[in-house]
Amino acid sequence: MSRKQKISITFPPVKYGYDITLGNGFLEVIAGDIKRNFPNKKLAILSDNNVSAIYASKLKSAFDERELHSIIISFPAGEKSKSSATKELIESKMIKNGFDRSTILLALGGGVTGDLGGYIAATFMRGIPFIQIPTSLLAMVDSSIGGKVAINHPMGKNLIGAFYQPRAVYIDVSMLKTLPVREYYNGLAEIIKTALIEDKRLFESIIKNKILISDRSDRFLLKLIMESCRIKGRIVMEDEKESGKRKLLNYGHTIGHAIEILTGFSIPHGFCVSIGMNVENIIAYKMGILGFDDYLKINEILRYFNLPVKIPSKINLNEILKKVRIDKKSINSVPFFTLIRGIGLGSIDNAVEEDLILEALGESR
Ligand code: ADP
Ligand code: ZN
Repeated sequence: MSRKQKISITFPPVKYGYDITLGNGFLEVIAGDIKRNFPNKKLAILSDNNVSAIYASKLKSAFDERELHSIIISFPAGEKSKSSATKELIESKMIKNGFDRSTILLALGGGVTGDLGGYIAATFMRGIPFIQIPTSLLAMVDSSIGGKVAINHPMGKNLIGAFYQPRAVYIDVSMLKTLPVREYYNGLAEIIKTALIEDKRLFESIIKNKILISDRSDRFLLKLIMESCRIKGRIVMEDEKESGKRKLLNYGHTIGHAIEILTGFSIPHGFCVSIGMNVENIIAYKMGILGFDDYLKINEILRYFNLPVKIPSKINLNEILKKVRIDKKSINSVPFFTLIRGIGLGSIDNAVEEDLILEALGESR
């Protein structure tokens, strides 16, 4: 079965906009679309070794059939590859293969491939078009929208990057079948976050269809991913450079990022966000802005999907507080949080007392 649905993202003023096309088992359709929209272009298919082994040659064959010239460039899977060394290796391969300004870089993979590929596309020959085929759930709902591309620097994650929008994004939910279980739930945490800040109906639908989610039902995932992308797209369109409304997306991330850094990025991002949402909900409850029933409902669904809600015992709570003080939302070291005032009711710029943060952290062990 091949289904195809579209979401359009346009930034005002209309400098650039792109479609996110969703479908199920539609690699052939994707190749046909690219041929129609970008005739006479050469394609560099960038993919990590895991994804490349499963999908890259299938995609290349679909391009070959349409007489579109493409090469596959693969790199070792993992965050370590978001480096200037890997970036240079990939650029060298592109140059050696005669790739020039008429090249399209197609990132086929998870967030690492999208971030790295997008950053290469932003600077290769002063910028070449970039197409994304996200293959992990996290990349489908998160990194494919917003145009943030980056590599890491030895001194920190995502320190070197740009805002660079793709020309097109294609999401094939059938690819999620091969995604490792940990990576699947890693992405689901961000979908739950999106529902909690903006869309009560989506959250209720997640609860109602939790078995379909665990079973990775193609039909339900198509709907779920489409809704999640639509919401994130709407938020990002209103605030491309992250000043106001986009802060909503930081829900769960103030505490989540601190845990991520303090555990040396050994816990997947979505898992840290899950712990972060739970702690931040305790803060909101203690401030009297979130009801206990809502707190419980969220806590239960996170645990249903085996998402962590407790802070690992090895982390010192004062260290978390120190990281919160230097979070980008803090002003003069006063912590500001994005909290929820109910399900689907995200609220930005909440100043929170440090004692209250420590209390909530203490209750999250
Ligand atoms: P992110 O979680 O940001 O998407 P990665 O790009 O590192 O991070 O992807 C997570 C892991 O999942 C990587 O090891 C990658 O190779 C693997 N992966 C991504 N998509 C798929 C897929 N559809 N099938 C199998 N493995 C995949
Ligand atoms: Zn996130």
